[in-house]
Amino acid sequence: MATIKAVRGTRDLLPPETALWNHVEATARSVFARYGFGEIRTPLFEATELFARGVGEETDIVSKEMYTWEDRGRAESDRGQSLTLRPENTAGVVRAYIEHKLSDSGMLEKLFYIGPQFRRERPQRGRYRQFWQIGAEVLGPPWSGSDSALRDAEVLEMLATLLDELGIKGWRLALNSVGSADDRKRYSEALRQALAPVKHLMCEDNQRRAETNPLRVLDSKDPNDQEIINGLPKIADFLDEASREHFEQVKAALDACGVPYTVEPRLVRGLDYYTRTTFEFTVPDGSGLGTQNALLGGGRYDGLSEMLGGPRAPGIGFAIGEDRLILTLQAQAAEQEQKKLDAFIAPMGVGQNPGALRLARELRRAGLTVEVGDGNFRLKKSFEAADKLARKMVIFGEDEAATGILTVKDFSVGEQAKVPRTELVSFLKS
Ligand code: AMP
Repeated sequence: MATIKAVRGTRDLLPPETALWNHVEATARSVFARYGFGEIRTPLFEATELFARGVGEETDIVSKEMYTWEDRGRAESDRGQSLTLRPENTAGVVRAYIEHKLSDSGMLEKLFYIGPQFRRERPQRGRYRQFWQIGAEVLGPPWSGSDSALRDAEVLEMLATLLDELGIKGWRLALNSVGSADDRKRYSEALRQALAPVKHLMCEDNQRRAETNPLRVLDSKDPNDQEIINGLPKIADFLDEASREHFEQVKAALDACGVPYTVEPRLVRGLDYYTRTTFEFTVPDGSGLGTQNALLGGGRYDGLSEMLGGPRAPGIGFAIGEDRLILTLQAQAAEQEQKKLDAFIAPMGVGQNPGALRLARELRRAGLTVEVGDGNFRLKKSFEAADKLARKMVIFGEDEAATGILTVKDFSVGEQAKVPRTELVSFLKS
């Protein structure tokens, strides 16, 4: 009999890996608690209309990725309705905020969630049809300070702290402002006009986006279209005074906290509800995510509550791709394990052993990780050992001892260089 397998794009999480998931979630809970967040758990499925209205009909998520079905009524009184497995959690949180009248307290709500989301995307490494997000939202009536730039900076600073506490290395924060709903409208129009004469040169997806949602063209990774995209108008030139000032305040607060960021004028993000601050944290290539190097994304959504029929409640939030966080931690741990030594010293003949050991002592005292071969080794054996253990090999022969000029082979580029002994430490560190 044919066996039944997990559905494409879904997977089982098994021990011992689940221990890492628990560790990540426990760390997130502990960080969130220190910033005053409480947990919210919303249903896995909602009325389809919530996402159509909240996320936006023109987005890829709503137009092609949702798991939607017509739910039959079971009784005459129980009407059928269109339901959808949640593709993201912000819309659900804001729905709950409105439904439970959380704005009545007049206070800032700080809510976090951890749970699965569902999108019918093409599965690949770091991209699944059921995936987990760890997210948080800060929202409240305007008089609670919910639209303050301080909140944006606090959320970003919290994320930097969380990633550091988890031990994620090399993360990068890309930051932008997409302005108010009006700014976006004017900018969209400018993009539409700029794209009109050139869009026929672009890929099919971008031709469609140029009409339906020109902001999405900026997200495109299509290599042939990059030249056109780089020449398009920039959102920064369309921000009104208040949005510009808000963005300046966010940046100043991040500077004060020492959180590094890069302003990325093209970062507009895929969901329709974003206003003003948008951001993304990425990890370097080789962190186990392949092309899916976005670890998390988020932004401000000052009009979302009204779009869902609620009171004015500006807010800001983010969603971390937990699957990607785990893949990154695993890849970085593996890299750490196989981390190569800074140098392998190869003495050319037994007579050079004492000098080679002395050189190793110098380098080790300067903080480098070093292994010394043996003058008995033939050159080929030294090369093989060095290539396995270290990033560079230092040849230490009679000439080198006499002149103080060392021959260094760099395995990453396959080149050999002559380096004076006085510059050896900095050369090996590079
Ligand atoms: P978004 O809700 O699209 O802003 O995505 C926020 C984060 O969720 C992304 O930066 C990813 O890390 C993660 N994410 C989004 N879609 C997927 C997916 N299909 N599989 C795994 N992670 C995802």
